[in-house]
Amino acid sequence: MKITKDTAVTLRFKVLDAQGRLIEQSSEPSVYLHGGYQNTLPKIEEALEGKEAGYSVTLALEPEDTFGLRDESLVRVIPKSEFPPGVKVGGQLQGVTDRGEPHVFHVMKIKGPEVHLDGNHPLAGKSLRFGITVLGVRAASAEEIAHGHVHGEHGHHH
Ligand SMILES: [Zn+2]
Repeated sequence: MKITKDTAVTLRFKVLDAQGRLIEQSSEPSVYLHGGYQNTLPKIEEALEGKEAGYSVTLALEPEDTFGLRDESLVRVIPKSEFPPGVKVGGQLQGVTDRGEPHVFHVMKIKGPEVHLDGNHPLAGKSLRFGITVLGVRAASAEEIAHGHVHGEHGHHH
């Protein structure tokens, strides 16, 4: 079966940086609903359109096509005294952007009395390579299409 709109695609992926260093590797297969449901990156859908189980590809993608460019207005330094207790380097906290929108910030480092926060996606601004192997393709159910995501094994549970 070919990957077309409203198919459930099971795949295994890994993410490498531009130098080929491994950043992330799926430990379990993941599954997404193909056809513009924003379950995965549009460039990945584009590359997989019309392909079948067994297809394998490495995509070199620019930040514009993955997690976006970095936004330096999302980099913050706050006094340690304003820092909520219990949050550590590597943790996250809820804040607001300059436009007052809620936004998640990552705690990058604590330096003396200052806490450095970064609200960018950790992979923002990076050129990445995605190694993708298609493990299976099936037709999505009417319910999955209505919900815009896949149910069942490796899918959405609710
Ligand atoms: Zn659902």
